[in-house]
Amino acid sequence: MSNYFDTSIEFVKGIGPQRAKLLGEELSVFTYNDLLQYYPFRYEDRTRFYKIGELNESLPSVQFVATLVNMQVVGVGRRARLVATAKDDSGRIELVWFKGVSWMAKKLQPGVNYLIFGKPTKYGSKLNIAHPEMDVLTKGNSTGGKLLPVYSTTEKLKAKYIDSKAISKFIAGLIQPALPHVKESIPPEVVHRLKLMPKAEAIYHIHFPQNAQTLEKARFRLKFEELFYVQMQLLSLKSGRSKKYKGKVYDNSGLLTRFYNEHLPFELTEAQKRVIKEIYKDMKSGIQMNRLLQGDVGSGKTIVAFICMLIAIGGGSQAAMMAPTEILAEQHYEGLKPFAKAMGLQIAKLTGSTKTSERKKLHIALETGVLNIIVGTHALLEEKVKFNELGLAIVDEQHRFGVAQRSKLWSKNEDLFPHVLVMTATPIPRTLAMTLYGDLDVSVIDELPAGRKPIKTIHYYDSHRLKVNGFIKKQIEEGRQVYIVYPLIEESEKMDMKGLTDGYESTRRAFPEYHVSIVHGRMKSEDKAFEMERFVKGETHIMVATTVIEVGVNVPNASVMVIENAERFGLAQLHQLRGRVGRGSDQSYCILMTDVKLSADARTRISTMVKTNNGFEIADTDLKLRGPGDLMGTQQSGVLDLKLADLAKDAAILKLARDTASQLLSEDAELAKPEHHPLKLHLQKLRQSRVNWSSIS
Ligand code: ADP
Ligand code: MG
Repeated sequence: MSNYFDTSIEFVKGIGPQRAKLLGEELSVFTYNDLLQYYPFRYEDRTRFYKIGELNESLPSVQFVATLVNMQVVGVGRRARLVATAKDDSGRIELVWFKGVSWMAKKLQPGVNYLIFGKPTKYGSKLNIAHPEMDVLTKGNSTGGKLLPVYSTTEKLKAKYIDSKAISKFIAGLIQPALPHVKESIPPEVVHRLKLMPKAEAIYHIHFPQNAQTLEKARFRLKFEELFYVQMQLLSLKSGRSKKYKGKVYDNSGLLTRFYNEHLPFELTEAQKRVIKEIYKDMKSGIQMNRLLQGDVGSGKTIVAFICMLIAIGGGSQAAMMAPTEILAEQHYEGLKPFAKAMGLQIAKLTGSTKTSERKKLHIALETGVLNIIVGTHALLEEKVKFNELGLAIVDEQHRFGVAQRSKLWSKNEDLFPHVLVMTATPIPRTLAMTLYGDLDVSVIDELPAGRKPIKTIHYYDSHRLKVNGFIKKQIEEGRQVYIVYPLIEESEKMDMKGLTDGYESTRRAFPEYHVSIVHGRMKSEDKAFEMERFVKGETHIMVATTVIEVGVNVPNASVMVIENAERFGLAQLHQLRGRVGRGSDQSYCILMTDVKLSADARTRISTMVKTNNGFEIADTDLKLRGPGDLMGTQQSGVLDLKLADLAKDAAILKLARDTASQLLSEDAELAKPEHHPLKLHLQKLRQSRVNWSSIS
């Protein structure tokens, strides 16, 4: 079915085959649809005219009308510049050109009135404007009243005279004939209720806004639409799946009861109990579970995971837990092992570094069902890994696996898919969870175990080291232990290694009376284990380490976490590191050491850490600082491929979109009503293209 909007842009007035080819190569703009969705990235305010006397350097680019006086070329050769003065009845301002000097000098004429557009900047004590746009004042441009769209373009395009203005002209040539073809696919009832600008109008006004209000309405409409379609896809996937995929019924609570009665090491928090109930209900339901388990660092996800495993094992099946890295797999394995042992269950670990001979044994044990629990990395996904019956797959994603990899685990069971529980190591902002994991049901552990004192976080500059050392000494005298963490990243590994070993030496010198351990990723695993063990047993007082301890240690007696060069860590990592302390009943501290010079972002990260212990709040700030792409590395999922909407800023629109989609599907799950027919067709089309959530049809 060919669509008007799939037509090649070579047929747009002023484009033609050669420019069309270039626009395709440079901007990936191929069709009418692409061009109309090539939205301006900002707008110049041409709605008002300034007076020269009003100009100051805090203004953005502005326009004003003035007469040109005093034009002259100053300097020679490559240093030549054109200096002119513009004058109106309120004052004078200097205009300067460093490029195209002789061309401009020929073009401009003193005594003539110009419409001038540019950014005032302070030069010495005076204001000037470098490279202003100069248009001779005419009837056509003297009324102003416009927001001028600015499109991004490339050097290659500019060399062929395709600048922002040219792109705007192309769009102007297409928009009138195209608008009548634009169909409204959001149901009329929704458009009406939410007072959305009609689609055709929105497309027009995003390119040619009359004023700030129409622009805002157009942007709102198009952002809403984008997010609405993402949510429609996710939610219909969710409701479709519960009908399509049956799940094995697990209703034998024998093992669970035994664990509760005989081996529960502590009273579960209310949040843990609630979440376990939600999961058990899913696993009993006969429908495959697809649930996201969120909980802050230290909220006790491990024991919840284990209890859910017991539900599957109690029903005669096996459980698997997959982590994105070997270190995390190791941590989960170490965390689960004591519970499994207490219950007499067989547990093993499988990662990329598992020896072949060991692997073979594991494969057999899994296939025969001797092994109850396996913990590992994506090595678990290999073809050779077969289960007797996989009942529960827990995936610790840390934002790294996509939907595709998740579902690979399903295929481990041919007749019935295993129940799937997705966990994340650190909280994800609600907006991201709604989009990235919008197809899953969500459980949140929103409570820390009782008796924990909130960790106190303090920021010190390196120059206060003596004070910090004094504090550490006092803590150790009171019987506590201390972590000192150094950054180590691959790009600067050699220097970082030196920072770590120097840090180790100076720590030993500063605390001659105490024992100091050192652990880093380059050590042999036996040596690492040996040093860890000494610290766990309390034989050493200070552990100097790299981020290997971000995960993998649990020493309740350690109450101080010193993070060196804290400005070099990301927020999620800082929060994860801080989560290593505060696990006992003593007051814990996190000390962030930094250089005096800090970037604005680094300052925000540090002050956020000092201000709050709440992982969800931290995740929100992180999203604002870094943007969703960086945060996730999940561009391939397509879900985040948004043209206009910004998950950090448009949380309210996203919520509206999700609620609207959810209500619509609850009233008409099959979209069978005639008024939902266009929506249904549009969704079908999106499902084929998969990426463009706002495509026009
Ligand atoms: P995370 O959610 O970060 O994975 P863990 O599962 O590692 O957290 O739990 C953190 C610490 O809290 C562990 O030492 C664990 O034994 C302990 N813990 C978990 N749940 C409780 C509870 N309900 N009461 C007391 N301590 C708990
Ligand atoms: Mg954990």
